[in-house]
Amino acid sequence: MSKKFETEAIRTQVERSQFLEHSAPMYLTSSFVFEDAEDMRASFAEEKDRNIYSRYSNPNTSEFIDKVCKMEGAEDGFAFASGMAAVFSTLASLLDSGDHILSAGSVFGSTHSLFANFFPKWNISYDYFSINELDNIEAKIKPTTKILYAETPTNPGVDVVDLEVLGRIAKKHNLILIIDNCFASPYLQQPIKFGADLVIHSGTKLMDGQGRVLAGITVGSKELVDKVYRFSRITGPALSPFNAWVLSKSLETLALRVDRHCENALKLAEYLEKHEKINWVRYPFLKSHPKYQVAKKQMKAGGCVVAFEVEGGVEAGKKFFDAIKMLSLSANLGDSRSIVTHPASTTHSKLTKEERLASGITDGSIRISVGLEHIDDIIADIEQALG
Ligand SMILES: *Cc1c(COP(=O)(O)O)cnc(C)c1O
Repeated sequence: MSKKFETEAIRTQVERSQFLEHSAPMYLTSSFVFEDAEDMRASFAEEKDRNIYSRYSNPNTSEFIDKVCKMEGAEDGFAFASGMAAVFSTLASLLDSGDHILSAGSVFGSTHSLFANFFPKWNISYDYFSINELDNIEAKIKPTTKILYAETPTNPGVDVVDLEVLGRIAKKHNLILIIDNCFASPYLQQPIKFGADLVIHSGTKLMDGQGRVLAGITVGSKELVDKVYRFSRITGPALSPFNAWVLSKSLETLALRVDRHCENALKLAEYLEKHEKINWVRYPFLKSHPKYQVAKKQMKAGGCVVAFEVEGGVEAGKKFFDAIKMLSLSANLGDSRSIVTHPASTTHSKLTKEERLASGITDGSIRISVGLEHIDDIIADIEQALG
């Protein structure tokens, strides 16, 4: 990245049209036209780098991809209709029948379902490693292991995985290291610096940040992204140009928004830590977090999500939930509106209790995605609900 993060987020743009628009126009077109037969032949033969059809590429999508590549320090990328389309298409494009994925046990619920319920159909197997026992990873590598996969911070346990250690293991064993960086956003953490080959985001979360669109993106080395692109231009999970336009605008304010998210989240975490009705609080930038040093090493700030447990188990958790007045009871995160979730009964209800515990979710765990409202109002709502 030649300029600073905030500048690239605003000044990276695709070529403007004859009207020299200041802000990017929307290219709501499914296809593009050619000058003549030779132009069309050469374009399809990929002798020219140009837009052909919006399932392959579109100027709005390219602008969004260019911005994220600069933010992550990546060579190339492809944008998807959702975060899960990015996860599925990236893995499916790289894996062959017989291959094995070695993944952190604490992964997004739908990613877990993909590994457990769908990949076995294509003879793709997986094993989990514990993010608290990184020393045991190497023993779990098989001759067929191709991909090392993790998220950090984790959802919804808000644990932290040491990216430097994963990068070292992946390099030594010639594995493709893929990091889902959605919880941190590229503003707080750039996994490629620590050895990741590909970085995946759900653009639905902090990137949009206003709960309007679904999106996903994968960025990384040109060689690997080309494989993802070949698979995706055929299978069709491309992001819509309209949603790409929305996201490209959102990225202009990512740094500002994430700074405030983190400031509010840290204040809330510190408040909860002192509250006598709270059993425990987890937030990466609290000194009491077991991975505080790792978080400091790889993240600029702690992110927008705080996890905690209300004293009194499931019943107390439910009571707290029902007493909330302003915060939204919803499943999204990274939104300008603060959101409360009870993972055990919602997002992670399809996991067994043991699988939930392995991801740091007790029955009474509450996850708050801290938004951009004034922190005094966020705390006031939580205080009255605890009362
Ligand atoms: C939300 C999320 C996803 C999936 O993204 P969608 O846009 O909802 O498909 C993947 N990984 C993590 C960590 C997420 O939080």
